Amino acid sequence: MITNWKELEFRCKNCTKCGLAKTRTSVVFGYGDVSSKILFVGEGPGFHEDVQGKPFVGRSGKLLDAMLEEINLTREKVYIANIVKCRPPENRDPLPEEQELCINWLRNQFYIIKPKIVVALGRIAALKIIDPDLKITKDHGKFLMKKGTWFMPTLHPAAVLRNMSKKAEYQEDFKKLNSKIEELGIDIL
Ligand code: SF4
Repeated sequence: MITNWKELEFRCKNCTKCGLAKTRTSVVFGYGDVSSKILFVGEGPGFHEDVQGKPFVGRSGKLLDAMLEEINLTREKVYIANIVKCRPPENRDPLPEEQELCINWLRNQFYIIKPKIVVALGRIAALKIIDPDLKITKDHGKFLMKKGTWFMPTLHPAAVLRNMSKKAEYQEDFKKLNSKIEELGIDIL
């Protein structure tokens, strides 16, 4: 494992391990506070993320920001990353082999951040980092402890934007996140 964040970022941003390197504009390494104890993980960058080099910056990002704000968080107070760091063409799902090749960057980010809570944003991230048998529609909002870290799957903000009737459930998940933050006594500066 690389222990220096800047070195990790530099190496990741020069990665060509999978085919997504050929079509990307940027490597979207992540955004936020490396010393935060809360890590959000999405599946991969979309069009706007690829252009700007930051995760969750389009309409999905605005909804995520609004959800964070409801529990007195901002993206500067957490860390946000993805399973794959380069955009899959036409926003298709990242292929299993792309996820497998890329996930070591996330593992290394996890190793340095040492989060107490990890929130998986959407089905693909939840299946990859929490449980391959998980059902996002049934299991979102439920916490699971793995090796000393709490994991919670929730919906991807894009899925909520496609079906706004899910927004109340989404707000509930963020309230549960807030309760877990308080229960664990995590300082939000
Ligand atoms: S998606 Fe990940 S593994 Fe593939 S080139 Fe980008 S950083 Fe490397």
